[in-house]
Amino acid sequence: MFAVIIIILVIWASMWAFYKFMYPRPPKSMMPKEGDVITPRQCNFCGNSLAEYRGVLETKPIMAAASDNPIDANQELFFCNYEHQADFHAGKIYDPHA
Ligand SMILES: [Zn+2]
Repeated sequence: MFAVIIIILVIWASMWAFYKFMYPRPPKSMMPKEGDVITPRQCNFCGNSLAEYRGVLETKPIMAAASDNPIDANQELFFCNYEHQADFHAGKIYDPHA
């Protein structure tokens, strides 16, 4: 009976060590800092969803002020990175295999 318990404990311990090794904690720089907005947002280019502070938020103040449509006035664009932002404005269509 004790053998069973010891085997379970040994397996549990080695699995725990294995997962610790396989999935280490992300570095501190990847973690949200104080004041970071962690609301999930969807990329306007590829549709990927990620926390706001990790992506690029773009507000359109000049165009929106001139617009009569109130929906346009507070429209924000969000992107994963500057590459997606550039591709979006270049009028490209998202290609997951590119
Ligand atoms: Zn994206």
